[in-house]
Amino acid sequence: MDICSQCILPGGQAGVALDEKGVCNHCRNHEPVAIQGEEKLIRILEVVHNNAVKYDCIVNISGGRDSAYTLLALVRDYRMKVLAVNYANPFTDPQATKNIANMVRILDVDFVQFELKNNIHERILRNNILAWFKNPTPALVPAICIGCKIIWPTILKIARKNRIKCIVNGGNPYEYSTFKKVLLGVTDNANLKSTYLKNVKGLVKETLKNAHYLKPKFILTTIKGYLFSNPYALGSRLISGKLTFLDLFHYIPWKEDEVLERIQEELGWDYPRDLDSSWRFDCRIAHLKDYMYLKTLGITEKDDFYAKMIREGMIERDEAIQRVSKENKLHLNLIHDLFSQLSIDSINLENELYQ
Ligand SMILES: [Zn+2]
Repeated sequence: MDICSQCILPGGQAGVALDEKGVCNHCRNHEPVAIQGEEKLIRILEVVHNNAVKYDCIVNISGGRDSAYTLLALVRDYRMKVLAVNYANPFTDPQATKNIANMVRILDVDFVQFELKNNIHERILRNNILAWFKNPTPALVPAICIGCKIIWPTILKIARKNRIKCIVNGGNPYEYSTFKKVLLGVTDNANLKSTYLKNVKGLVKETLKNAHYLKPKFILTTIKGYLFSNPYALGSRLISGKLTFLDLFHYIPWKEDEVLERIQEELGWDYPRDLDSSWRFDCRIAHLKDYMYLKTLGITEKDDFYAKMIREGMIERDEAIQRVSKENKLHLNLIHDLFSQLSIDSINLENELYQ
């Protein structure tokens, strides 16, 4: 497989095309991510800061590195009164659970944790994993994460109940995988709103091709997932009223070393050292997604993420190559654990791998 001579993406699939010099279309058309600046952030925080209410904002934490840094920055750097919120995802890595307990204790913030009812996350995940293996396609890997797409109505409810006017997210602007969008027919430079609509259209189109996703008992949850998949989704915008949504790293630069150094030193944050990567370990479904992308595309979301970091001048290409060769390892034991948690015994991953 030929890979781009500037980044590390392989040509010939998922919207990646190499030219005669071996450079991919994403590198040729790259425009640096625009960071809006700390001044603008501070102005917005001043507006949402309110002495009359108990909390200025919500930070949704997962135990992962970027949301940990976001909570740290809002509390220590910007002196906001933060309510930390966490969805008790049944697939949370034990280290992420420890990280959450540590950061809440060390920063001394109030903390609300909520669950989804009727084991819906487990049930729909099980259904969609079984559906995926009947017809493995990279476009529908995101559909297995529908459980985390239906948490927004609850977070918005918590905001309303506490009269909170602002929700701060910790996603960084380099982690939205380009290939995920391309596989659903979304162009890379589309803005957040049109990305959302096209994403939904693409997901619906792909879902309709595989009837196994469409069990009647899960259809309502699936629609809810598409409507509320993130704060910018149609349903969220309709019910969020005058809420301000902020993505911290769209205002201040995301610097991987600084994020890791500060959360480790100040919050006692850590990641499972046997995984080699400090990114996206917080939900154990990620290991299955790596498997699904490796099987169908030969790359994972990490290749895309590091390719973006190369284009932004954040890491050298050699380092990215080293990282993916180390990190794109399958953790079959963790996928087996996930399957046994879901009572899935009909899929033999080892056999699947060599087909
Ligand atoms: Zn490239």
